[in-house]
Amino acid sequence: MDMFYQRSKECGLKITPQRTAIYQELLKAKDHPSADIIYKRLIKKIPNISFDTVNRTLLTFSKIGIANIVEGYGQPKRYDPDMNIHHHFRCILCNNIIDFHNKDYDNIAVPEKISRQFTVMNKKVVLEGLCNKCRKR
Ligand SMILES: [Zn+2]
Ligand SMILES: [Zn+2]
Repeated sequence: MDMFYQRSKECGLKITPQRTAIYQELLKAKDHPSADIIYKRLIKKIPNISFDTVNRTLLTFSKIGIANIVEGYGQPKRYDPDMNIHHHFRCILCNNIIDFHNKDYDNIAVPEKISRQFTVMNKKVVLEGLCNKCRKR
């Protein structure tokens, strides 16, 4: 939660009970949820919260650097509260996104062609395939 309070202050974002609740819910989530999923979890606790608020707040979180948007797959945006370097395995059938850590991937070299043209700020390896559950189907 410290990062939330600190970055909100730095960015002049007012700390409201709703924003706090949305961040807490995201922080708890290990499944890289979409705004819709977060909304459905929150509505049980905060019946008057609107989807629009959740959606806008999550976007704001990504802008102030306390949440990552998981690289798009043409579906609703998925959010990741883990700002530490890590990588993803995505199941192509059920769309589960699972975190993993790997030192070699962390230190992966940027191709010269890219580094000449662009400034790379974030490197993430995404592996895709079938998760255990889907493999058994
Ligand atoms: Zn799966
Ligand atoms: Zn992740």
